[in-house]
Amino acid sequence: MALTITDECINCDVCEPECPNDAISMGEAFYQIAPERCTECVGHFDEPQCVQICPVACIPVHPDFVESKESLWAKYRRLQAEAGKPAVDQA
Ligand code: SF4
Ligand code: SF4
Repeated sequence: MALTITDECINCDVCEPECPNDAISMGEAFYQIAPERCTECVGHFDEPQCVQICPVACIPVHPDFVESKESLWAKYRRLQAEAGKPAVDQA
């Protein structure tokens, strides 16, 4: 599943550099997550890094982007290939 950032975001800036997929960027009023780049950290970490670090717990699952583990792994492999980086094997 891709995650999303709600308007409870306080723009503290700490999540953006933690994302291994460069999925987080500043939006019009608060930070946002590009769903096509969010793998829920699959392929990189056991837990979503943005959720772990967010001080106000404003990063739920995006209701419109519910994805299986398989599809998250496929997204991870696509992103790695686009970046010219090797991909680790699926756990
Ligand atoms: S869950 Fe991982 S990939 Fe998705 S936005 Fe957060 S840090 Fe980035
Ligand atoms: S860590 Fe949470 S509060 Fe801080 S910028 Fe990211 S989403 Fe917003």
